[in-house]
Amino acid sequence: MSITPADSAGRGELLTPLSAIPVMGCRLDHVTLLRLDRIDGLAPGNKVFKLRANLVEARRRGVRRLVSFGGSWSNHLHALAAVAQAQGFESVGLVRGEEQETAMLADARQWGMRVVRLSRGEYRRRNEAAYLEDVARRYAPCLLVPEGGSNDAGARGCEEIAALVNQLAPQISRIVTAVGTGTTLAGILAGLGRPAEVVGVAALKGARDLEKRVQDALASRGGGFAPRWQILHDYHCGGFARVTPQLREFVEAFESVQGVPLEPVYTGKMLFAIHQLTLGGEWDRRPVLAIHTGGLQGRRGFDW
Ligand SMILES: *Cc1c(COP(=O)(O)O)cnc(C)c1O
Repeated sequence: MSITPADSAGRGELLTPLSAIPVMGCRLDHVTLLRLDRIDGLAPGNKVFKLRANLVEARRRGVRRLVSFGGSWSNHLHALAAVAQAQGFESVGLVRGEEQETAMLADARQWGMRVVRLSRGEYRRRNEAAYLEDVARRYAPCLLVPEGGSNDAGARGCEEIAALVNQLAPQISRIVTAVGTGTTLAGILAGLGRPAEVVGVAALKGARDLEKRVQDALASRGGGFAPRWQILHDYHCGGFARVTPQLREFVEAFESVQGVPLEPVYTGKMLFAIHQLTLGGEWDRRPVLAIHTGGLQGRRGFDW
């Protein structure tokens, strides 16, 4: 699966400068999108970056089966199934709860993923060492990838996003990305290698351990130069995958003015944060590079 601009969209096509037509009372023409959602493959976005170094690790270990965790709309499992099929791996998706069948799971199955349902109780143990040993034995020989692709290899893979940023928009020093586990943010920070202000917008409510997770990921990358960074915690709109009427109105207005698809779980909240901070005057109008991390398959889970 190609994830470099040379392989897929041309360089220019990965950058979308936003138009000056106001979105809900605010011009956003200081914002340029980095369109990871346009990167080639069945499951575009940030998740293929996180998986790439994991696949290298699987090959190094001579393992042909990838096993991971996720919800029934997981962008991560969706990408894992796609990448596994494209690169000749088997994949097993351990899916939370007895949630409904979804278009995501249908795609994943079509790409050969074996979907296994876990009870909510079992799913809760997904980060416990003893449980993971048990799972690794159950599917041996396999490479276990944590939920969301949030391991060191995942962060390493996301350094390539920083390389793209530096290649395509070296002059922009305010960079914004959505944050779930913080792996993508950590990779960008580790890979950027130049002074900048990097802002993460948390998609989860009250995820107060995120800063520490990012710090730990950076430390395990060797603790080299990292730009200034912070995570904003006020734009979760009620919690993970929750949508307020205001967020929905923003996403719909943004899409119709800018002609760029968003989804409300991550990219909608990130751009909503930029919109609110600009509208309220808390941010000046210096150039912003907003990373469109994809996730559009999940948009199918919202019936609007
Ligand atoms: C998973 C995901 C994120 C968050 O990435 P993390 O590395 O977990 O912080 C952001 N945007 C989209 C669209 C995602 O699918």
